Amino acid sequence: MDGYGRVIDYLRISVTDRCNERCLYCMPEGYKGWAQKADHLTAEEIVRVAAAAAGIGFRNFRLTGGEPTIRPDLVDIAAGIGRLPGMASLGVSTNGTRLASLSGPLKDAGVTSLNISLDALDPTIYRQITGGDFPSVMAGIQAAISAGFPRIKLNCVLMRGVNEQEIWPLIVFAAERALAIRFIELMPLSNEDVLTEKNFLSINEVRERLAERDNLVPLDNPGLGCGPARYHRLTGLGATVGFIGAITTPDFCGSCNKIRLTADGKIRPCLGRHNELDLLASVRNGGGIAGVLQEAIALKPEDHEFSECYKPGRPMTAIGG
Ligand code: SAM
Ligand code: SF4
Repeated sequence: MDGYGRVIDYLRISVTDRCNERCLYCMPEGYKGWAQKADHLTAEEIVRVAAAAAGIGFRNFRLTGGEPTIRPDLVDIAAGIGRLPGMASLGVSTNGTRLASLSGPLKDAGVTSLNISLDALDPTIYRQITGGDFPSVMAGIQAAISAGFPRIKLNCVLMRGVNEQEIWPLIVFAAERALAIRFIELMPLSNEDVLTEKNFLSINEVRERLAERDNLVPLDNPGLGCGPARYHRLTGLGATVGFIGAITTPDFCGSCNKIRLTADGKIRPCLGRHNELDLLASVRNGGGIAGVLQEAIALKPEDHEFSECYKPGRPMTAIGG
């Protein structure tokens, strides 16, 4: 339990700061990443941290990045964590571009859920936002569905004037495949000029627009994972829609249950504050990993400071979303 009565049992593990896409809101233009491969924790080191976390009560794990699927040993990492005693969920967050070949191996390794980013269905808009290859994402989503993961969710970051006309087609796309889709408010985690008044689209505005089109009913406990999304059902269409409003939701952090491990071995108690603890030294010099994790839990702040002129330090790609 942290200092605010929250049970922290969820470790988000970034396995790389690199990515094969260049999303406007995540990867600042010209970002090069850490020069040395040795700056990244190895697969064995990551699994050792996860095991130490499991030993002090962590039950939920997610592999993220950067783009986790660009790491050749991702399946080994997943298999190592998938074997940990007491593990309740193991998720992977991905842009989906490599799932066509990786879905089966990840499922076999014990991955229980996939979050796949999909900001647009129009390939031109998709490319404008991510710089990525739309057909490979479509093939990846299809492969993930065929592999039979217990949970697959789509994630869309909201940007006014960029992908707002994609919201309804994305919901229909998700509903046709019986997938949940979540809309995420833009957070200040890339270049400062990305999060502007002009670009920002709140989840409240999206909810109001959806309620004008269909009957939008809040869902209590839909069993869709342990993150911060609040889910609704569009009863006419038959779609499940989640909203992640880190900027506008009052008490957004009240139910926070996670800490983050960055790919270079730092523990981050809160996504929206700069404070980090060094874990790399403990991992490489035989120090107490569990002690650093417990210190991070104790240091978890009550809330993020995104609304207080927060300036991005590490970009999202180097933290792990
Ligand atoms: N590459 C993977 C992906 O795209 O899903 C995993 C890493 S990505 C950093 C994880 C999630 O963070 C994605 O859903 C992405 O859209 C979201 N994200 C990245 N930057 C963000 C920002 N500035 N504001 C809100 N969400 C962001
Ligand atoms: Fe890459 Fe994911 Fe960041 Fe996009 S959101 S740049 S896919 S890490």
